[in-house]
Amino acid sequence: MRSHYCGQLNETQVDEEVTLCGWVHRRRDHGGVIFLDLRDRDGIAQVVVDPDTPEAFATADRARNEYVLRISGRVRLRPEGTQNPNMPTGLIEVLAKQVEVLNTAATPPFQLDEHGKVGEEVRLKHRYIDLRRPEMIDKLRLRSRISHSVRAYLEGEGFLDIETPILTRATPEGARDYLVPSRTHPGHFFALPQSPQLFKQLLMVSGFDRYYQIAKCFRDEDLRADRQPEFTQIDLEASFVDENDVMAITEQMIRQLFADVLEVELPEFPRMPYAEAMQRYGSDKPDLRIPLELVDVDDLMKGVDFKVFSGPANADDGRVAALKVSGGAKLTRKEIDDYTKFVGIYGAKGLAWIKVNERAKGLEGLQSPIVKFMEDIVETLLDRVDAKDGDIIFFGADKVRVVNEALGALRVRLGNDLNLYTQAWAPLWVVDFPMFEADDAGRLSALHHPFTAPSCSPDELRASPSTALSRAYDMVLNGTELGGGSIRIHDQAMQRAVFEVLGIGNEEAEEKFGFLLDALQYGAPPHGGLAFGLDRLVMLMTGAKTIREVIAFPKTQSAADLMTDAPGEVSADQLKELNIRLRQKVKVTADEE
Ligand code: ASP
Repeated sequence: MRSHYCGQLNETQVDEEVTLCGWVHRRRDHGGVIFLDLRDRDGIAQVVVDPDTPEAFATADRARNEYVLRISGRVRLRPEGTQNPNMPTGLIEVLAKQVEVLNTAATPPFQLDEHGKVGEEVRLKHRYIDLRRPEMIDKLRLRSRISHSVRAYLEGEGFLDIETPILTRATPEGARDYLVPSRTHPGHFFALPQSPQLFKQLLMVSGFDRYYQIAKCFRDEDLRADRQPEFTQIDLEASFVDENDVMAITEQMIRQLFADVLEVELPEFPRMPYAEAMQRYGSDKPDLRIPLELVDVDDLMKGVDFKVFSGPANADDGRVAALKVSGGAKLTRKEIDDYTKFVGIYGAKGLAWIKVNERAKGLEGLQSPIVKFMEDIVETLLDRVDAKDGDIIFFGADKVRVVNEALGALRVRLGNDLNLYTQAWAPLWVVDFPMFEADDAGRLSALHHPFTAPSCSPDELRASPSTALSRAYDMVLNGTELGGGSIRIHDQAMQRAVFEVLGIGNEEAEEKFGFLLDALQYGAPPHGGLAFGLDRLVMLMTGAKTIREVIAFPKTQSAADLMTDAPGEVSADQLKELNIRLRQKVKVTADEE
């Protein structure tokens, strides 16, 4: 039906006859001449219809925004003075000879260039219209290029694209499952996969050696700010590899992806042990673009006459850390109050600070509500954080977890507010994660998942589970975890030890993952892998503000699809067929209950 996409036209087609198909983006009447901006997925072309072609003119005259048109005409240079160098097609226009309405359109719920005036709800409800916006098309186009680049790289490295089931059993990624009732097995349920974890390990047992999949995963989590209940992973697994191999393959994949799609040469990926990341940045996904670090000052604060500091400094599970911000003395009282509220979200009970106005003046040159409690140690403190005139030093003093979370978040917030970024992209690997984490009651759970191999023997693991490290690794970019994985356990004795520590009895292990344990008996090779969150990767690469912008049909924060109105009610007949009776009386669509 068409000879060119609208956005493809430029000066090289001048005098050519072209046929375009697309939507009316805008229509303007200019003294008897009609201008139509015709839009398709590649861009917008200006079409001129003049009264010399009466039939075309009459059709153009009744065209309205979002009508679907087919236009034939000749490409010509725009007259001097009307050219628009900011637009790819801005030097030319098409003088229409024929205009055909392929379809009319009702007045859309919002004009594309006025999308900001309606709430996100309206845009999600009419997502097919929202997706007409060139910015949305650009993001999804980039997403397609990203998946393509990843596939091309992995295929080139000998990875096979193998699909794994969607109707399956629970997978141990630690979130709640989405369940699907079985009609043919009354009272039984499938779980949608939280990841293809177990299947990809089984593929290694089968000898496929290298697997990948761009896989949908489902996690019924209480949705934190920017998560989706269904999301996409670039999932991969390989046999006869160690952590260095997996990190090398995937680092190269990301490097190549950035070069292909963004023409960005990523810097080195340093490796940082988890403990160091927590110590220096208060986070296991540090944003290394920000040159601020947490500095321990427990030893100095042990003896100060200020309980808020001396308490945590002397406690085993406490931490007192300082965060120096160069030039931060200019922060106002109001800004500091805002930061105090902000750290409160992470459980910090306050935010102490010292402004260094003029170091040479000693105590006189400092401004701070707390310095009076620590006059003896203040010089040592200032030396330790290398304080200079004009700096501010913030403090966190609490349980280790609270200090890390609060100062870690403050560091990122300050980096953003004060625009402290030193580079555009800062990737790294975080390694040497603890094998387990304890909840408040002291119960252990796997930090990654229970198939992750520890870096010690089964006996050492049993002897000291809380200090055991795992062979897991996370790739972090600009403070976002892009992906994570591990070398897996491939022998049963180790798997048993891990289950034992986790308090998973034989029966439970058998019931939940019996098939994997069985498979480990039949010659499982050493193997490991990793999964990247594709949505998050696309978000970073497109500079999108929310994950919803890079997913064609996303769900809301409450895990609903406003367009299809899912989840929806089902008929009584369907429930009956599934052997399900609802506990709460809800409206059903059939008259029979
Ligand atoms: N299955 C893991 C996850 O979804 C990734 C991996 O270990 O490969 O986090």
